[in-house]
Amino acid sequence: MKLDLQNNLKKYKRPFLIAGPCSVESEEQVMNVAKAIAAETKPALIRGGIWKPRTRPDSFEGVGAIGLPWLVNAGKEIGVPVTTEVANAKHVEAALKAGVDVLWVGARTTVNPFAVQEIADAIKGTEITVMVKNPINPDLMLWIGAFERLQKAGINDLVAIHRGFSVYKHPRYRNVPNWEIPIGLTEEMPDIPVICDPSHISGRRDGLLNVAQKAMDLNFAGLMIETHNNPDKAWSDAEQQITPIQLKELLNQLVLRKANI
Ligand code: PEP
Ligand code: MN
Repeated sequence: MKLDLQNNLKKYKRPFLIAGPCSVESEEQVMNVAKAIAAETKPALIRGGIWKPRTRPDSFEGVGAIGLPWLVNAGKEIGVPVTTEVANAKHVEAALKAGVDVLWVGARTTVNPFAVQEIADAIKGTEITVMVKNPINPDLMLWIGAFERLQKAGINDLVAIHRGFSVYKHPRYRNVPNWEIPIGLTEEMPDIPVICDPSHISGRRDGLLNVAQKAMDLNFAGLMIETHNNPDKAWSDAEQQITPIQLKELLNQLVLRKANI
């Protein structure tokens, strides 16, 4: 399905909302959380990680391709398109075959031009929307390079996700926002909408609102917020996930100071 998000995203009432669990854990889990999100808010996309890029081995690495139909069915149930992370050509093929609507390239993949090129080649010839997270290191050109590789493969429906940048130690953020980098991306590639991911920037629930508000003040188009029915028991990123009710409360607290663009 052609979503043409790059052009249509600006027509959504801000924030364009992507919600859903860090990881798809079971058929029941993703179905229940999608229904709960739809009962509280109006998500534009449901997210769910199928293959998880974990820093250390022996962490939960995702349910794998078996979970793709669970995610797709959860989206169908509430009538909302779904998105998952792809890190190689095999992921792309499986996700497209299962009917995932939007693909995203994760921060640990954007750093690797070989991997981005492989993904671009695997997507070539389709009309799917691709979202690209910033690389984990604060390198604007690497982020731009990933978009260029996709554009050269004829993939033009592109969206950026700002998820912050790795640092050895930081008392406040899990990944420092370095807001000048997404702003720099907008200056270099003005047609690509930017969505903020406060969950991975903050790393903790109590920091989400500040980061989301800052993104709205900077006129970002949307927010990706990890949402789980039982965040404390989540199989990945438990500390930063919130319930659908908390998501609704967070959205209600946002002040949209600037006019929609
Ligand atoms: C995620 O969105 O769950 C994820 C792994 O993201 P990132 O690539 O930003 O670390
Ligand atoms: Mn996560």
